[in-house]
Amino acid sequence: MIDLLGYDFMQRALLAALVTGLAAPVIGTYLVQRRLALLGDGLGHVAVTGVALGLLTGIAPTWTAVVVAILGAVAIETIRDRGHTSGDLALALLFYGGLAGGVMITGLAGQSGATLQQYLFGSITSISRTDIWFTIALAFVILGLGLGLMPQLFTVAQDQDFAQVAGLNVRAYNLLVAVLAAVTVTVAMRTVGLLLVSALMIVPVATSQQLARSFRATIAGAVVVGAGAGVGGLLVSAYLSQSYGLTVQPGPAIVLLALACFVATWPLGVLLRRRQRRHAPFPDVEPDDHEVSGTHDHEHGPDCGHLAVPHGDHVDYVHDGHRHAPHGEHYDEH
Ligand SMILES: [Zn+2]
Ligand SMILES: [Zn+2]
Ligand SMILES: [Zn+2]
Ligand SMILES: [Zn+2]
Repeated sequence: MIDLLGYDFMQRALLAALVTGLAAPVIGTYLVQRRLALLGDGLGHVAVTGVALGLLTGIAPTWTAVVVAILGAVAIETIRDRGHTSGDLALALLFYGGLAGGVMITGLAGQSGATLQQYLFGSITSISRTDIWFTIALAFVILGLGLGLMPQLFTVAQDQDFAQVAGLNVRAYNLLVAVLAAVTVTVAMRTVGLLLVSALMIVPVATSQQLARSFRATIAGAVVVGAGAGVGGLLVSAYLSQSYGLTVQPGPAIVLLALACFVATWPLGVLLRRRQRRHAPFPDVEPDDHEVSGTHDHEHGPDCGHLAVPHGDHVDYVHDGHRHAPHGEHYDEH
């Protein structure tokens, strides 16, 4: 195992698994918040055509995949924005077209299905020196924008009408999340593959949500699970291959490890939720729309200047047309 870590290709693979595991759940958290958990999956299917175009033209498939995935993201966001009732259907058609088109173009390019399979299920141990820099650079763009714009992206994902009133360009931020999801798909393509990319964006978030009670904590937990599953899955697959001669693909190993984390934390989440209910002293004053507001720069208090409204067993503060109540480390929207 130690000898294996000495190899260049293994070090590159570990680096790729780490940065992918860090970046994918950040965008995944916004997708989950907006109930678009399967957007990454759809963009993965669209990106298959991008890879195939790369194989056909001789351009590096990472480049063609990122371009086609971004075009797909813009198309999806435009269809969604128009609010057609058939939006769902239009997306499905786009996804099938992406996958079928990709397989067909790969054949036309004279490449076998095995070549395409590297991109469908990942080929992390064959990442080249150029590819690793590409992966790291894109991961940093995702992390920088996803974490740096957290207040804006959170507000837009949480309540579009309120964000509009607050003067945020909702359409632009929605488009940014979709484009970042497309870039994430390309980054994760080499690690877990296009067909499993969505799992690395969503499963760590689902795991973190079992335990975290605020948005910020959810993102933090998801990143830890994502990075842990990325590195852990790669090491498990390398260990099993080296010591037992078993063929275990790193991509599926990473996804299964993330799923194992979810299964392990699930009973804990059930317990936590049950306990929280039992400890709530005044269940009748708990508002129906108990929405957690994760990002709040201002700390409310008796002297903060906002209108204070006694509400059940606590005090709400009114500002910008909504009511906030301090609750532990975060604010609730009442
Ligand atoms: Zn205040
Ligand atoms: Zn209240
Ligand atoms: Zn507030
Ligand atoms: Zn709360």
